[in-house]
Parts: sequence; structure tokens; C-alpha cells
Amino acid sequence: MDHFAYHAGLLCAEDVPLPDIAASVGTPFYVYSTATLERHFRVMDEALAGLDRLVCFAVKACGNLAVLRALARLGAGMDVVSEGELRRALAVGVPGERIVFAGVGKTRAEMAAALSAGVGQFNVESEQELVALDAVAREMGVRAPVAIRVNPDVDALTHAKISTGKAEDKFGVPIARAPAVYARAAALSGIEVVGVDVHIGSQITALEPFEQAFAKVAGLVETLRADGLTIRRVDLGGGLGIPYVRSNEAPPLPFDYGAVVRRTVGALGATVVVEPGRLIAGNAGLLVAAVIYRKQGEGRDFLIVDAAMNDLIRPAMYDAWHDIVPVVEPGPDAPVAPVDVVGPVCETGDTFARARPLPRLEAGDLVAFRSAGAYGAAMASEYNARPLVPEVLVAGSRFDVVRRRPTYDEMMSRERIPDWLD
Ligand SMILES: *Cc1c(COP(=O)(O)O)cnc(C)c1O
Repeated sequence: MDHFAYHAGLLCAEDVPLPDIAASVGTPFYVYSTATLERHFRVMDEALAGLDRLVCFAVKACGNLAVLRALARLGAGMDVVSEGELRRALAVGVPGERIVFAGVGKTRAEMAAALSAGVGQFNVESEQELVALDAVAREMGVRAPVAIRVNPDVDALTHAKISTGKAEDKFGVPIARAPAVYARAAALSGIEVVGVDVHIGSQITALEPFEQAFAKVAGLVETLRADGLTIRRVDLGGGLGIPYVRSNEAPPLPFDYGAVVRRTVGALGATVVVEPGRLIAGNAGLLVAAVIYRKQGEGRDFLIVDAAMNDLIRPAMYDAWHDIVPVVEPGPDAPVAPVDVVGPVCETGDTFARARPLPRLEAGDLVAFRSAGAYGAAMASEYNARPLVPEVLVAGSRFDVVRRRPTYDEMMSRERIPDWLD
């Protein structure tokens, strides 16, 4: 459920009509709903009720400071994958012990920054990384709290680019090798083994892959404990999918996911950590754009909008489907006809939707791309020298620009022309 709905014929974010934001900020822009972010966080947290738990928002899904702050206020932890994300989490007041540092390629400098911040858990993905982290921690005179990310070799049944738990994926340590890696970790004086970690992919729309992976993790925890290790945390990663297509895609409910967690790892008595990104932010954000032209092609019509693949790359990158809706509510009998919705970038990949049935829209009309709150603004670039799309946060009837659109001068100011080109 989200807080984007038509009121008096206009699509609103909570109580704010989107045309008001467009008039003040210009298009395109991202808009997030605070109430929706809060609701999604609480739904996930409550799905794990009764367990000792820590819900860490995956910052990479939507790293805007205001969004992070809205979640931090509720007690969310953060899952970070770089020093930049670590700094963002700290900047919004998340205590170090609520931060999990993940990623296959942590540098020594990043490890040192995370140790200084007192992060609660490093998710270590290889023996090489374990040895490096041990050395950095010993140099600093501390011990690094570690969970080893295991690769359970299960098929998450999702898009190949966001599947991470199969044997051929680059992530984690093969689960069969894990006991040996843990034995090695336990012998390192800069390492404190605290848990086991798994993350099998993203936009997962069935419970079976989770059930298989978590059951394997539970088995591993028992083996490790029998080996004498203290395993007090079980990190199950993120990955729960969301509905992108209204009505005909029904990902599992967080409540049912919670039941799987309880059934598989609930009896271990460990703190359960989860790292949802998309589930919290995905349906809490829209990308709003204006139609520039309506163009008639050979046998198909194009709606050329002022947002492009650099602003929302998911359709080009993951063949993702986004619901596209007019901001002015169409009448119940308004005729619909198929159009290709495209951006201005010089690539055929800059196509948001093909043959999408939409009511007739004209230049200047506003459209909203739904489910754009996760991996939208976070993956935006300045490709084609297009300014980074601004972000707006709504709460009730107020809205604030939480990342403004850069000026062209700002965009060029980080570059310089060397003297020898004069
Ligand atoms: C991407 C990622 C997440 C978040 O995934 P979602 O599908 O957005 O929930 C969590 N943990 C790790 C390790 C990730 O790489």
C-alpha cells in the first residue's frame, strides 16, 4: 500500500497534488512519501515480531539523506556497501552498532573507516577479505565483528543481473566451504566471529528460494556452534520483491516472509538481521515527468517525455516494468491507445514502455512512473549532460526539495581543462 492516489482528479503524494510540486521544482523530479516509507519499515519490522531483530535499510536502494533520516527516526539500522554509504548512515544519526557493512570489494581504507565508526557487523565475502580485515583491525588495536556471507547455491528465480545466490555468482563463500573459513576466522585475533550472512538476490517474488537458503543457513549455524563458535546473529539479507505491475504480480507479503524466517531460523535464538531496500523504498517513490512531444511513427505512436534512462535506468538495465499513469485523472470512459513511452536520450534503450495502453496525452501533460523509489534516483547519472534529477520528500501537506537540481555551471565545475590545451 502506498500514499499516492487521485484526489479531486489530480494524482497526489499524500496530501500534495503533484502539479504543485511540478510548478515549484520543474520536471522531471522524484517524489517520496514519508508515510509510505514509515509504513513499509513498520510492516517489515512487525513481520519479525517476537524475534530479536534489526531491520537494516539497504542504503543503495535510495540513499537520500532525508529518506535515511525518516527511517533512522524509527530505529532502522542501515546496510551499507561503501564508505560513501557509511558516511550517509552516520550523517543521519544511525549508531555504528546498527550498521552492517557489506560488499565483495571493501578496500582497507573503507574497513578502517567502518572500524572507526564501530559498525556492528562486517559481512565478509572471501578469505582474502578476512585476512585483510584482520590486519586492519589489529593495526587499529580493535576486533572486527564478522559474519561470513555464504553462497547457498539456490536459484532466486529473479532477473539474472540481480541474482546473487547461485554457485556461479561472485558473492560469498560456498556454503560447503564455510566451516573451514569460519575455523580460520576464529583463529585470527583481529576478528570476532558474530554471525552468518546470506543474500540471494533482489526482486524475489516467491518464498521457496528464501526458505531453502534460510534452512541451509540454520543448518550451518548448528554445525558452527557444535564446532564451538559463538553465532549470535543471523543476517538474511534483503531481496523481497514488490508489485511493479498492478494486479497481475503478487510477491509474498512481509508477514508470510516473517513466517518463513521464524520457521527456519527462529529457534536459533540469534538476533535476526534483514536488509530490505526495495521493499521499503520502491513503492514509496514516483518519478514525475512531462510530455515533450507526441510523435506519430510508422504504425506506432511515441510519447517523448522529459525523463530519460539516465534518470531511471531500470527498464533499460533490467527490462523492468513500471506502471505509468497520467497525473490528471482520466475519466472512466477515456479511450486508451498503445504508445511507446520514451526519453530524449540518443539510444533505443531509452525506452520506458512499449505499446503501453494510455489515455491520450499531449505536450505539457504530466505522467508519473510508479514504484520508482528504489534503484531510481540512486542509479541516476548525468549521461547526455542532463542534470541529476531532483528529489522531493512529502509529509502530509508539506513538501521539501531534499536534493535540488544542479545548475549547468555546477555540473561543469568539477572538471578542468589543462593549460597545455590552450
Ligand atoms: C542489494 C542488497 C540488498 C537489498 O536488496 P533489495 O532487493 O533492495 O531488498 C540487501 N543486502 C545486500 C547484501 C544487497 O546486495
